[in-house]
Amino acid sequence: MIKVISFDLDDTLSDSQFDELIWRTEIPKAFAKEKNLSFEEAYKAVTTEYKNLWGKAQGNWRDASFWLTHFGLKTTWEDLVNAVHKEIKHFEDVDAVLTELSKRFTLVIVSNAEKKFIEAKIKCGNLGKLFKKIYSAASDFNKKKKDAEVFNKVLSDFKIKPEEMIHIGDDEEYDVKVPKSIGIQAFLLCRKGDKPADFRDLREFRNKLVGK
Ligand SMILES: [Mg+2]
Repeated sequence: MIKVISFDLDDTLSDSQFDELIWRTEIPKAFAKEKNLSFEEAYKAVTTEYKNLWGKAQGNWRDASFWLTHFGLKTTWEDLVNAVHKEIKHFEDVDAVLTELSKRFTLVIVSNAEKKFIEAKIKCGNLGKLFKKIYSAASDFNKKKKDAEVFNKVLSDFKIKPEEMIHIGDDEEYDVKVPKSIGIQAFLLCRKGDKPADFRDLREFRNKLVGK
C-alpha cells in the first residue's frame, strides 16, 4: 500500500522562470550596480564564475546567498526575492490534485533546489501546508543532485518500505533511475510532451493512482 508520495519541485510543480530570473537577471543586475559595470559585463563575470565553481561548491552552488557573499555584494536574498517573487508560478493542476491526494497520502517534496528557493515557492498559494516534509539535496545533504541517500532518508523518516512510496518528477536520472535503484516506484512527468514519459500532467498521474 502506498503511504508517501514524493514530488520533484522544478518543472514538476512549478516552472523555472523564477530561478532563471534570480540567476541570470537579478544577481547580474546587483553585480552591475554594486561594481559599476554594464549589465553585459556583469552577466559575463557572474555566469563565468557559476561555471567555474560547478562541481566545486557542492550544495552551496545552488544557494543564491552563497553567491552574493562570494561576489562581495550587499544585496540580500530578500532583495532578490522581492524583485521577482511575482514570477513564481505553479502549474494549473497542482493545487487541486495535491489537495485531493493530501487527504489520502503523506506528501513530501524531494528537490535538488536550495531550501530558500523551495520555501519561496511553496509560500506562494496554498502549497506549503500540503507537504509533511521538504527534502533539499543541496541544503539538507550538501549535494548537487538527489541520490539514493536522500530517498533513503524519506523512507527512514516515515518508517516505510520502498514499495510504500512513489516519486514523480521530470528528470529521467534523478527522479526515476535513482529512486527506482532502491525499489521506490518512480514516474517520469513531461509537461512539454516532447519526450516519452509516464504522464503529461498531474491529473493523469492522479487518475492512474486513485482511479477516475
Ligand atoms: Mg525537476
